Amino acid sequence: MVNLDILIIGAGTAGEYTAGTAKQSVDSVGLIEKGPVGGDCIFHACIPTKVLVHAARTCKKMRSADGQEERAEHDEILVATGRKPAIDDLNLTAAGIETSKKGIPVNGSLQTNVPHIWAAGDVTGMFLFTFVAGEQGKAAATNASSGKQKELNYDILPRATFCDPEVASVGLTEKQAREQGYRVKAGKFDYANLTRPILSDETEGFIKIVAEEDSGRILGGHIVGVEASSLIHEVAAAMAGGLTVSDIGNTLHAYPTLSEGVRYACQAIM
Ligand SMILES: Cc1cc2nc3c(=O)[nH]c(=O)nc-3n(C[C@H](O)[C@H](O)[C@H](O)COP(=O)(O)OP(=O)(O)OC[C@H]3O[C@@H](n4cnc5c(N)ncnc54)[C@H](O)[C@@H]3O)c2cc1C
Repeated sequence: MVNLDILIIGAGTAGEYTAGTAKQSVDSVGLIEKGPVGGDCIFHACIPTKVLVHAARTCKKMRSADGQEERAEHDEILVATGRKPAIDDLNLTAAGIETSKKGIPVNGSLQTNVPHIWAAGDVTGMFLFTFVAGEQGKAAATNASSGKQKELNYDILPRATFCDPEVASVGLTEKQAREQGYRVKAGKFDYANLTRPILSDETEGFIKIVAEEDSGRILGGHIVGVEASSLIHEVAAAMAGGLTVSDIGNTLHAYPTLSEGVRYACQAIM
């Protein structure tokens, strides 16, 4: 029988990061995978869907370029009715692990109700993103191997949907901020007024910044438009640093860039 310090079930993003981090502090790590290493992200989800989005966008551009009416004929249908945890075959009750409809409940340090068993990634049912799975994997490995209780902070969590145009957000919406008792101001800037998207004929969309009225501290950002998934990180970094709309509004931004839109949305409420 092999004696391991840490055994990980599943070599998706969470499993891989857990293994990589655990290996730095313990002697022996086991990783069990029933399929190919890489999990959903590489084989069924993040990467394949982005290739499809790219193909659809290219197709749309070509169709509209020659002025023809856009028509779509489909041979296949994608059913997107949600995801559920694959835990039925694990016989978790034999190990005394509690489960829920969403998966395996964990505390802030990713520990299950059985103290020497941790869970990370989609199976926790918290935030079903690759980048969360990776961070949770690293934290779970650190906690399991050191006895620490490292907790992740999910307050600043950029979210992106890779549709056309892209949609991305971070932090609070204007409504959420008001509901939480903040006095709020919100600034908006349209892509149609930005040089860069005008040059590439991608003017659909806007950038909206939500800030605390008195201090100007940025509470959230919401972007619809080309490259929204990248732009949102300027807002996320500003929130992480506790920056205000004046900090971004007074920072020179190169021209012509999409990032200027973030500055102008901030300037609208300086
Ligand atoms: C269509 C789609 C698009 C997505 N796009 C994005 C995106 O753009 N950005 C983003 O951040 N996230 C995206 N996600 C979410 C992302 O794919 C997941 O959050 C991520 O894969 C979670 O990693 P994980 O390791 O927790 O789980 P998984 O990737 O599901 O890995 C779990 C692994 O465990 C293995 N396993 C399961 N049961 C057993 C067992 N009993 N024994 C051994 N091995 C087992 C599986 O084979 C699998 O390899 C998308 C998801 C979908 C469905």
